[in-house]
Amino acid sequence: MQSVQEECRECCDGRGGGDGGIKVRNRAVPEMKNGGGGREEDVGKESLMMELTRLVQKVIKESSWWERRGVDCSILTASFLCLPPAFLLLGSSQLLWFMLGMLLMGLAHAVINVKGTHLASHGALTESQTWGRFWAIFFIEICGSFSAEAGMHGHIKMHHAHTNVIGLGDSTIWKVPFLSRIVYLFIAPLSVPVITPLVALAHLKGHSLGVVVRTVLMIALGLYSQYWLLINISGFRSVHGALFCMLVCRAMLSVPYIHVNIFQHIGLPMFSPTRRPKRIYQMTHGVLNLPRNPLLDWTFGHSLISCHVEHHLFPFLSDNMCLKVKPVVSKYLTEKKLPYQEDTYLSRLHLFFSKYQELMVFTPPITELVGVQ
Ligand SMILES: [Zn+2]
Repeated sequence: MQSVQEECRECCDGRGGGDGGIKVRNRAVPEMKNGGGGREEDVGKESLMMELTRLVQKVIKESSWWERRGVDCSILTASFLCLPPAFLLLGSSQLLWFMLGMLLMGLAHAVINVKGTHLASHGALTESQTWGRFWAIFFIEICGSFSAEAGMHGHIKMHHAHTNVIGLGDSTIWKVPFLSRIVYLFIAPLSVPVITPLVALAHLKGHSLGVVVRTVLMIALGLYSQYWLLINISGFRSVHGALFCMLVCRAMLSVPYIHVNIFQHIGLPMFSPTRRPKRIYQMTHGVLNLPRNPLLDWTFGHSLISCHVEHHLFPFLSDNMCLKVKPVVSKYLTEKKLPYQEDTYLSRLHLFFSKYQELMVFTPPITELVGVQ
């Protein structure tokens, strides 16, 4: 078996490939035959992904509608049902009830805004294309205050299609090099609810007038309806109070939201656009799973937490299905001696805090997976 150093040859400036203390199991790749191996090896590479796809498809076929979509649709419905009591609790003059209302609204917003938006952008909530389009606009624009066009382009066409490929899907969107690590990791995320609609407006440049008008109206509808309900149902008397309440609820989980987005890709092997590995190697080397966590499992969804590897290999699956195929995927990758990367939230936080410059400021080195390109 080759060593990690032998497998991942750095062709940039000789800095480490950025394993950063992650737990890597069986990190071996097939032996290379003179620069990539030829047709026979290509067939072998293709069939790895095809074989895994067949195993996963078998699990999907044996799953009921409830497992494939029902569980996640029910979690999203439950979060919408939490909103009326949350607005009523926010009208209470008792501090405890008021705080409970704030917590309920913040958690419901995180479920709708992160889990709902993510699943809707992948079309994982329904099999119908028309309904898929409807839910994407509903979740991304009305609930998430972002542009459905820009969101789906950035997430599906760039991040998923070009995971960890420099200049394409390399997560540079999350880097703000001029901020210090304390500000970036713990303070700046609180401004995400304010920045999101502004970035959405900036992304509208070049789109048709119809898309621009729709997006602006949908974002305004989402923001104004929450404001209106706070004034008219919860009884807020001042504009500032209602706006501050909206900010607190919408920013409640934005610190872990930013953390999760950077922890699972940045610091892992990055690839050159011209010499990218086959998909199964790209995803197994460039994606990492965090452990299960009750709060983040419910609010962000398994596909963003403990099943991110599965999500990048099979992005059309719902959160519940990602969790169901996880044992099949991890067993297969381990058997084939491919990486199945896992690390804890605190370990990643420690890594990003201690190596902030290297990971979030400098350009990452390119990794070449010897033997798989
Ligand atoms: Zn995704």
